[in-house]
Amino acid sequence: MLDKVVIANRGEIALRVLRACHTLGIKTVAVHSTVDRNLKHVGMADESVCIGPGPAAESYLNVPAIIAAAEVTDAQAIHPGYGFLSENADFAERVEQSGFIFIGPTASVIRLMGDKVQAIKAMKAAGVPCVPGSGGPLGDDPAENSRIAREIGYPVIIKASGGGGGRGMRVVHTEAHLSNAVAMTKSEAKAAFGNDQVYMEKFLENPRHVEIQVLADGQGNAIHLGERDCSMQRRHQKVVEEAPAPGIGSEQREAIGKVCVEACLRIGYRGAGTFEFLYENGKFYFIEMNTRIQVEHPVTEFVTGVDLVREQLLIAAGEKLSLRQSDIKLTGHAIECRINAEDPDTFMPSPGTVKRYLAAGGPGVRMDTHIYDGYRIPPNYDSMIGKLIVHGRDRDTAIARMRIALGELVIDGVKTNIPLQQRIIADVGFHGGGQNIHYLERRMAEQREKSIGLRAEG
Ligand code: ADP
Repeated sequence: MLDKVVIANRGEIALRVLRACHTLGIKTVAVHSTVDRNLKHVGMADESVCIGPGPAAESYLNVPAIIAAAEVTDAQAIHPGYGFLSENADFAERVEQSGFIFIGPTASVIRLMGDKVQAIKAMKAAGVPCVPGSGGPLGDDPAENSRIAREIGYPVIIKASGGGGGRGMRVVHTEAHLSNAVAMTKSEAKAAFGNDQVYMEKFLENPRHVEIQVLADGQGNAIHLGERDCSMQRRHQKVVEEAPAPGIGSEQREAIGKVCVEACLRIGYRGAGTFEFLYENGKFYFIEMNTRIQVEHPVTEFVTGVDLVREQLLIAAGEKLSLRQSDIKLTGHAIECRINAEDPDTFMPSPGTVKRYLAAGGPGVRMDTHIYDGYRIPPNYDSMIGKLIVHGRDRDTAIARMRIALGELVIDGVKTNIPLQQRIIADVGFHGGGQNIHYLERRMAEQREKSIGLRAEG
């Protein structure tokens, strides 16, 4: 078993990793920036090391400082959490070259999945259903690109091979706009990701976002833990997630899960991972794989009873998966609401001091957060300050529990998106389940129009 782990992250996920380590009797090292000395997990860790000033580029993305922290504390492994360096193949490589265990897949698998053109090729070869597309990078010949687009059928989407975070994409509806769109996406991709390779896919107009969670030990064993529906999004950012996905039957779940498991074995996947799909008219279309633990992992933990971060640690320690596919049974329904310190109407970040925090509780309620009374939220990082997750025997029970929990949760001193989450959980369309990825933005636009009286009645 591992003896000591460096947690190369902050906020709620750092606390989550710390808890999993301590459950297994593993000691922890918290690395933090100068503005993060008061993070809850820093006080709970066995040791802590300041790795730089507030800006993430000088602290949480500071590779030499993080590796030095592992060296001085005599740790064995580094857990990257999500975001920051978690999907950085060069970091994973440096960690392993420095003699530490990177808690995640090998650097070469991270690199493969970070290059979307290569990732899609590998997935196709493994039998994973993908969006109809160019099947490779686009060249500079406009006639050839037009031919590809006509073959796929408009609308199409031009995407950066090195893209991420919903950036570097452009939808094209007609041939007249194609060559300009390719050129613009290329130059943006070059500037943003240092890689101007772009590819083309059919633009699916009303898909849902459904993703499959996997665990693999890199020793020939892999399982899937069902799916999550993350279609409630704003600007490609997930806002509410749930498991299982409404309307997906067990046969379809097993079929797509099996394909993902086989793909894991084929590429030599190790650790926790997620296959992200667009889901339209009953069919799955692979878009990308996330090679790390995800923000929304708790909904899967609730319905499967599996502690995913604990499994990550066991796999990193070299243990074989002790879970078999037949051990994975889904029970009930789970929903997660991301809690952000932001204005619920303008979405402007709202850093500042938490004057009062009252947690929600009761059966099937889990709050993953690092905030506490008097905690000062620094302006330097993501505005997510916690996640409220509920579980119930069915979806209606989960919705009712979330409604009560959101009403109980008090975070004073900063603005939060709790009012927005309350509107979503009360929404009739959300109650129906199975909405597509545009639903939330459309509903928000309708409500804005209503509130400023633009909507023509009758
Ligand atoms: P990123 O790595 O930037 O998150 P993804 O490939 O995961 O990029 O795509 C992000 C989002 O963009 C998807 O969740 C979806 O909303 C939209 N998108 C991407 N590809 C398509 C497509 N072929 N058709 C429709 N929407 C798409």
